[in-house]
Amino acid sequence: MTIPIGLGMPEAPPPVLAPRRRTRQFMVGSVGVGSDHPISVQSMTNTKTHDINATLQQIAQLTATGCDMVRVACPKPVDAEALPIIAKKSPIPVIADIHFQPKYIFAAIDAGCAAVRVNPGNIKEFDGRVKEVALAAGSAGIPIRIGVNAGSLDKRIMEKYGKATPEALVESALWEASLFEEHGFGDIKISVKHHDPVIMVEAYRQLAAQCDYPLHLGVTEAGPMFQGTIKSSVAFSALLAEGIGDTIRVSLSAPPEEEIKVGDMILQSLNLRPRKLEIVSCPSCGRAQVDVYKLAEEVTAALDGMEFPLRVAVMGCVVNGPGEARDADIGVASGNGKGQIFVKGEVIKTVPESQIVETLIEEAMKIAEELGLEEGSVSGSPEVKVTS
Ligand code: SF4
Repeated sequence: MTIPIGLGMPEAPPPVLAPRRRTRQFMVGSVGVGSDHPISVQSMTNTKTHDINATLQQIAQLTATGCDMVRVACPKPVDAEALPIIAKKSPIPVIADIHFQPKYIFAAIDAGCAAVRVNPGNIKEFDGRVKEVALAAGSAGIPIRIGVNAGSLDKRIMEKYGKATPEALVESALWEASLFEEHGFGDIKISVKHHDPVIMVEAYRQLAAQCDYPLHLGVTEAGPMFQGTIKSSVAFSALLAEGIGDTIRVSLSAPPEEEIKVGDMILQSLNLRPRKLEIVSCPSCGRAQVDVYKLAEEVTAALDGMEFPLRVAVMGCVVNGPGEARDADIGVASGNGKGQIFVKGEVIKTVPESQIVETLIEEAMKIAEELGLEEGSVSGSPEVKVTS
C-alpha cells in the first residue's frame, strides 16, 4: 500500500496571531532586520572574547543550533583586538556589545562587526559622543542597537522616575535615538529589557506605539533554564501576539545554545518560523499502558535534528491515542505491550513495544526520502537512544 505523504505542508502561510508591526528596515551583516524580514534569534557568547578559538568554536555551535546573529562582549583592549578576526571568520553576523568605554565602539566598527550594541546608561559621556558614533557607524554602513537595561538606567532618568518603570526605560531609549537622529543616523534597533515580564511587556508596548524602530525583545536576567524559559516565553508571546518584536534573545543562566533552542521553539509555536519536529505526547494517566515519558523522550532524542515539518504523536493508550496519532504525520497509540503505528492517518502496522521507537524512526526517514530531502535535513543519524 502506498501511503500518501502530504506532511501537512500548508499551501497558504500558516495563521499568525497578528501582522507584524511596521518598522524601518536595515541589514545586520547578511541578516535583514525589520518587519519585512523574518524574526531572528540571537544569543551571546560566554567565552572570553580574546580567546579567539574558543569564541569562534562557540559561534560555530550556535550557528549549528540555528542562531541568526551573535553578540560578543568587549570589556578589555585584548577583546577589541580580537574582534577583526572574529568578525571575519564568524559564519553569522557579529554584534559587539559595548559597555563603559566609548573607544571600543569605534574599535568594533573598525573591526568589521555587523552592528554595535551600546548601553547609553553606562557609557561615560555617551551623549556627547553620539555625533562621532553616528558618523563612524554611518560611514561603515552598520546599525546601532540602543540597549537600555533596567539594571543600568541612565542616572538622569533614574532621578526623574525613581526606578526602572516602563516609562523610564522608553524615555531613555527614545532620548538616545533622538540624539542619533539629530546627526542623520536612523539605522537603530532598540531594546528595553527588564527582569520582570510585566514591566518588560508594558515598556515594549509603549515603545512600539511611539516609534518605528525595529525592536529587540529580551527579558534580562531571566534566570536559570526553567524559570528563564517560562519568563521569556510568556513575555515574548504577549508581544509577538501583538506583532511586536523583530529580533529576540532568550537570556538564560545556561549554555547559549539552549537560548537558541528556546527562542526557535517560541517562534515555531507561534507560526513565526516554519515548524520542524513537533512531538505531540500525552501526559499519561492511570489508563497508560506504556511508559509515555520514556517513550516520548526516546522518540524526541531519536528524531532530534529533523529539519523538515514532522508532527509525531506519542500516546499512552487507545482513548485519545488513535485520534491524535491519526492527526499527526506519524504516531503511535500504545496498548497491551504493543504500538499501533500511524502514518498520515492510517494504521500501517502494529509492533511490539520494544520496536516502537525504531519503527517511528524508519517511517520518519521514509518521509524524508519521499520528500527528496538530502542528508543534512537530519542532523546526525537518527538512532534509538535508550533512556534510563
Ligand atoms: S492518551 Fe490515554 S494514557 Fe494518555 S493521557 Fe490520554 S487517556 Fe491517559
